[in-house]
Amino acid sequence: MKGEHFFVYYQQDKKFANDVLRQSESYYRSIASELGYQRYSGFWTWENRVKIYIYPDKESFLKVTGQNPWSEGMADYTNKSVISYAWNQNFLEALLPHEITHLIFRDYVGMDGEIPLWLDEGVAQWMEPQKRELLQAAMAKIIVDGKILSLDGLMRLDVRQVSDSDLVHTFYVEAASLVGFLIKEYGSSDFINFCRQLRDKKNVREALTFAYPTTVRTLEQLEGKWLAYYGGVKK
Ligand SMILES: [Zn+2]
Repeated sequence: MKGEHFFVYYQQDKKFANDVLRQSESYYRSIASELGYQRYSGFWTWENRVKIYIYPDKESFLKVTGQNPWSEGMADYTNKSVISYAWNQNFLEALLPHEITHLIFRDYVGMDGEIPLWLDEGVAQWMEPQKRELLQAAMAKIIVDGKILSLDGLMRLDVRQVSDSDLVHTFYVEAASLVGFLIKEYGSSDFINFCRQLRDKKNVREALTFAYPTTVRTLEQLEGKWLAYYGGVKK
């Protein structure tokens, strides 16, 4: 099935594939505009369209991709594709905006800059409409439970190596909440500027102080303001 920016490959459920295509085009427009990438709007057309593969069931998806059993889908940066299987609403409402964001973000910042995992996952989650709604409560709970991972810890953690599911949860919530904080508190254009600095090979600290010269001078200051925004205090 062909759209303006996407090819959808499916085997069985044509109606579902149709929904996927329609939603993908809609997410593409809203995500690109929110991240300020309108000038890239011609980027994913014709043979550069993103390919979405919908396998009929989880078993065939795992067999083809060799992913971990808990994986529900993936973005493949090299082949500009999203791969998953025909499951429930979460495909349309969560997986699709998440993986499309990964691809748009990578297209913009490139593959060889120093893009930390928390930022990659933070941006992708921020574009999932439902997650955005739940973030405030999830952060409040982490704060109340005393499970906050420091900003420094967040920046250094390679969550792919972590098996403690609580810590994985904390990582994802904090990553999304930090991106949410920067965008809501200081606006999209500063955030886009921050991403542009990363694309131009500054590291995270340099990019932050460049894009937020008056508001976030140091990581310590950022940590304090971010936690305060969600009702916590820096220890
Ligand atoms: Zn992700």
